[in-house]
Amino acid sequence: MESGNQRVTCIKCKVLPSDIKIRQANFCKSCFQLNFITKFKSNLARSAAPQTEKRPNLLVAFSGGNSSRALLQLCSDFQTPGSGTKLQQKYNEMLILHLDESAIFEDQDAEKSIMEIIEKYPFKCITKKLEDVFSSSRYSKFVSKTTNSKGLFFSHSLEKETNESPKDLLVKLFEGIKSTTSKEYMLECIKHHLLLEAARENGCEVIAVGNSATRIAVKSILMTSEGRGFSLPFDVGAESTLEEDVYIVRPLRSSLSKEIVYYNNLLGLESVTIPTFSTKANANSKIMSLGYLTENFISGLDLEYSATVPTVTSTVGKLKVNANATTNKKCLICLAPIGDNASTWRKNVTIDSLDNTLKELKDDSSKIDENIKDENLVNVENSLCYSCLSLASDTENDTILPGFVQI
Ligand SMILES: [Zn+2]
Ligand SMILES: [Zn+2]
Repeated sequence: MESGNQRVTCIKCKVLPSDIKIRQANFCKSCFQLNFITKFKSNLARSAAPQTEKRPNLLVAFSGGNSSRALLQLCSDFQTPGSGTKLQQKYNEMLILHLDESAIFEDQDAEKSIMEIIEKYPFKCITKKLEDVFSSSRYSKFVSKTTNSKGLFFSHSLEKETNESPKDLLVKLFEGIKSTTSKEYMLECIKHHLLLEAARENGCEVIAVGNSATRIAVKSILMTSEGRGFSLPFDVGAESTLEEDVYIVRPLRSSLSKEIVYYNNLLGLESVTIPTFSTKANANSKIMSLGYLTENFISGLDLEYSATVPTVTSTVGKLKVNANATTNKKCLICLAPIGDNASTWRKNVTIDSLDNTLKELKDDSSKIDENIKDENLVNVENSLCYSCLSLASDTENDTILPGFVQI
């Protein structure tokens, strides 16, 4: 070797110089790309779909961010015959779903850029707005939240309040939620609901979401710290079979966010930065959300220990829901199964203002009802999962909840 500038050779072809290092392995550009696409294809090929007589339809969720940008391109290649990938078409039809978040983040430029990207693809695009969860044509009644000395209740809202526009109700909902962590959690619940709704309305049995390995590791740690470990297998597993008719698949779950950004750069795929509650809070130098802190924690650890993300994701990939610990009830807000004694556990291990009032509660909820004059009030302590109990206690009284929350 003539120069002292020694270049590392690609681990795969052993010919070309390496361009990128992924988990201690050096790849040249073309071997990287091959490896990246193979991981995606095998994840997608392995994922199941609900039983139907025909090939299922695929709904690809596109937010504009890096991961979903790569997802859109890869799914399109996968689906388009003759795109050179020599793949067997697994899905009957592919549709693109975009959730418009401009009602709360007021970023019209981002929305415009997102639509420009979608228009480059030959697939039907469905757009849903976050405020659709307050649409009066869809929902005739809304519930609001009340905490009193007897506990936590939902009640039917007064009609005059629900005369407000869906957008105003959405903005008020987030104003009524105190912490950034809870705001982000509520936003996740709304998006999840809209995803499922769009899939059902358009006859799609499978939804592909862009969760990367890095995102899954962050989400796993975050959910565990939020006390949401019980439903982890549904929220971060290879595929979620929580709903019988629609499966959610995560074909990018083996790729680090670094790989995804590199792939996008290689192909010249532009992405759009979407504001979040955390970035908004940081700009105002307010307290950061648990999600933001977890993200920093994981990326810091991963710099020192490159196996962090794969270790966390492969560990959570093996988790299974314990059927014995599951009640048949689904949570009113997030629709996840409610673990045994979520409310009792919460009462025993956490301290906040709601819990002080809960301590006064007797376990028999029928006794509570006797003391409540307003028959509209429904005690929901046993109808919410642990994290939604936390969310509800972090929400101001009389806040009107999205229409999919019904009592
Ligand atoms: Zn190579
Ligand atoms: Zn819940």
